[in-house]
Amino acid sequence: MDSINRRTILSTGALALAGAAAQGTSAQAQAGPKSIFAVDAVTIPIVGQSDVFPVRRIYCIGRNYAAHSREMGSDPTREPPFFFQKPTDAIQNVAIGQVADHPYPSLTKNYHYEVELVAALKSGGTNISVEKALDHVYGYAVGLDMTRRDLQRAMGDEKKPWEIGKSFDHGAVIGPIHPVSKTGHFAKGAISLAVNGTVKQTSDLDKMIWSVAEQIAKLSEAFELKAGDIIYSGTPENVGPVVKGDVLLCKLQGLPDMSIKIV
Ligand code: MN
Repeated sequence: MDSINRRTILSTGALALAGAAAQGTSAQAQAGPKSIFAVDAVTIPIVGQSDVFPVRRIYCIGRNYAAHSREMGSDPTREPPFFFQKPTDAIQNVAIGQVADHPYPSLTKNYHYEVELVAALKSGGTNISVEKALDHVYGYAVGLDMTRRDLQRAMGDEKKPWEIGKSFDHGAVIGPIHPVSKTGHFAKGAISLAVNGTVKQTSDLDKMIWSVAEQIAKLSEAFELKAGDIIYSGTPENVGPVVKGDVLLCKLQGLPDMSIKIV
């Protein structure tokens, strides 16, 4: 109920803003219903420009590296990919060169990192072909799909939704977006995560079971993708827990490092 209300308010607000921008007037001057209060728009900075990337939806793919699939207790044969979402306002932006404070969330005693490549879409559609899929990518960022692993597992064991383990405030950590025009696409390249200077996760993007293009194609069979959607493309093996005070350093070959401190 809450999320439905929130989406309605968001879309109404967006329409009012778009109308105001088109006519050069304030939102208050528009005819018709107006939002009863303001809701913050969620955006991600773009490297090299003052304009920002507006976030519509956050998709994440599960178990997309074979070794990670195995450590999660699954068979990494090429089963169809599966996806989940995080709420848009779970985004925590982390600037280049910053060590951003990241709050240890409530309820968990086993809070895990998952370093991932994130693709940001400038357009979308349904039933997008693998061949055309990358045409929809605006840019890329390095991200952390933070996970309350104990809650995720407990819900999974009871065959209940993962929601509480994956979809929570600040749970979608992300660096600034780098336009494809500057970086090209990422079919391969080293990806790693260190905790307090010790490397924990290390792999290569070429070990993804489903490529970014394949993820977009598969997602578009289930959902109409649109500009503003971002996709966390899965984490390599050796996920693990953090405690307050830990400093995480994420590296993705071709992008600046991203770092957070658990507080
Ligand atoms: Mn993940």
